Amino acid sequence: MPKVAIYPGSFDPVTNGHLDIVERGLKIFDKIIVAILYNPNKEYLFGLEERLEMLKDCLKKFKGVEIDSFDGLLVNYAAQRKAHAILRGLRAMSDFEYEFQMALMNRRLNREVQTVFLMTGLRWIFTSSSIIKEAIQFGGNIDGMVPDLVQAKLVQKFDLDTGSGQTGKN
Ligand code: ADP
Repeated sequence: MPKVAIYPGSFDPVTNGHLDIVERGLKIFDKIIVAILYNPNKEYLFGLEERLEMLKDCLKKFKGVEIDSFDGLLVNYAAQRKAHAILRGLRAMSDFEYEFQMALMNRRLNREVQTVFLMTGLRWIFTSSSIIKEAIQFGGNIDGMVPDLVQAKLVQKFDLDTGSGQTGKN
């Protein structure tokens, strides 16, 4: 039976840290479903379609990767997709408590689904979607932290080139 994992997240936007987790996860799993969790109560910089598009573009070179989105309970989605694992990345201790709680809750909800953590690549330890968004909107240099096409989208989103500002934040 193929080993299938779900890699859930907001991916708002996808970073090189996320891509590193997928690439290394493919050494363990036959297939990884990168799934955007859609939470209607959360505010995102990029719409769901934009995030799906960026993930598709950035991950098209990898065999065994599928991009999808879901709402509701992650363990239900995993069961529906016949996945036996949830893949998550860990950066610093600050990630640990939340991830630990979530993994235990998910195990309580469905004991057939195992959560697997991959340690971040050292290069990506300070890379997070939120830090990147904060840095770039105030003119910070984010070279090498996200794929080029994501960087271009961020520049466009914050209208850093033209100064007309879609988000009104700069
Ligand atoms: P969420 O809103 O679920 O935290 P994210 O898109 O921020 O979604 O992250 C998805 C997953 O990727 C999480 O497990 C997160 O810890 C992991 N992750 C994010 N950035 C990195 C990174 N630089 N290195 C390793 N893992 C990361």
